[in-house]
Amino acid sequence: MKIAILPGDGIGPEIVAEAVKVLRALALPLEMETAPVGGAAYEAAGHPLPEATLRLAQQADAVLFGAVGDWKYDTLPRPLRPEQAILGLRKQLGLFANFRPALCYEQLTHASSLKPELVAGLDILIIRELTGDIYFGQPRGRRAAPDGPFAGAEEAFDTMRYSRPEVERIARVAFEAARQRRGKVTSVDKANVLETFQLWKDVVTEVHRDYPDVELDHMYVDNAAMQLVKAPKKFDVIVTGNMFGDILSDEAAMLTGSIGMLPSASLNERGQGLYEPSHGSAPDIAGKGVANPLATILSAAMMLRYSLKQPEAAARIEAAVQRVLAQGLRTADIASPGCTVVGTAQMGDAVVQALG
Ligand code: NAD
Repeated sequence: MKIAILPGDGIGPEIVAEAVKVLRALALPLEMETAPVGGAAYEAAGHPLPEATLRLAQQADAVLFGAVGDWKYDTLPRPLRPEQAILGLRKQLGLFANFRPALCYEQLTHASSLKPELVAGLDILIIRELTGDIYFGQPRGRRAAPDGPFAGAEEAFDTMRYSRPEVERIARVAFEAARQRRGKVTSVDKANVLETFQLWKDVVTEVHRDYPDVELDHMYVDNAAMQLVKAPKKFDVIVTGNMFGDILSDEAAMLTGSIGMLPSASLNERGQGLYEPSHGSAPDIAGKGVANPLATILSAAMMLRYSLKQPEAAARIEAAVQRVLAQGLRTADIASPGCTVVGTAQMGDAVVQALG
């Protein structure tokens, strides 16, 4: 089983080192090879996603990714900015299905900005389509407005589009995932206003006929944003497009209190995947040894489950994380009175210990 390790920038190398430590402790036949990505790759090779890094990712069974980006690269031309690396990997590997679980650990209920009773036991999965929608739709650009009240003025435009097969495959992913959970899918759209999302809704409804054992409901995105803070526990699996999923998954992340706890997986049709924490490179705390490595460690667990087909090893990691939290160990972002605050490496060591 070959894993490409792409630590990236900011806290990326610190948190990925802890996940690698945990993976090594499992004593599985894992072959790991590291390559630069993002700002680190720009410094080393003049491009955020060098050819050699892309090749390594393409040849691996899975990619473990830290995070990319730093404010010091904000003045670079867009194609050379670190964030282009993650967009390029998604596109080149065809990673169309993004899984973002939002799980509220019993010990961290207090960390949420919502009342504890609203989030205690929360366990939802957002499945976001990742390679289509307005983020990739062509044409896009700037021009002189051809018509309208401001004809001739500078305008910018993007294109929202989805094809039937794109919606079909993400809908199937969502229904299959719901079968492994509580059997309910909420498809989030804006079919009342957008043609693209009327097609989305029609196709999800059609695909649902193959999954009569799964409950399906449809919700407009504005209502979904509201329901996520009003009664989040009524959701099981949420499936939605790229832009709505981008926004709703960050909202769901904060229900659980800390973005430092949330893993993610992005899969292609062959089951090959890229696994990364949901947060960014956190330049404000980089190099201080205080970043929470648990989201990355839990991403490694998702990698074992989805791409490497090692569910027992994945469950061992998840149980170890639970145990460490139960012991009262916390990094600064999830600290609370009475707990022991530890640094990044100590947290990684504690998870290794708790593997048993
Ligand atoms: P961020 O997620 O990096 O940080 C937001 C806040 O959360 C910061 O205060 C940070 O200290 C804290 N935080 C994040 N991860 C943490 C962790 N593991 N432990 C403790 N605290 C943590 O978002 P940002 O500040 O908006 O962006 C910083 C950089 O990251 C930007 O360059 C952005 O483009 C990039 N970014 C990259 C990715 C990615 O690589 N997939 C995703 C989002 C943002």
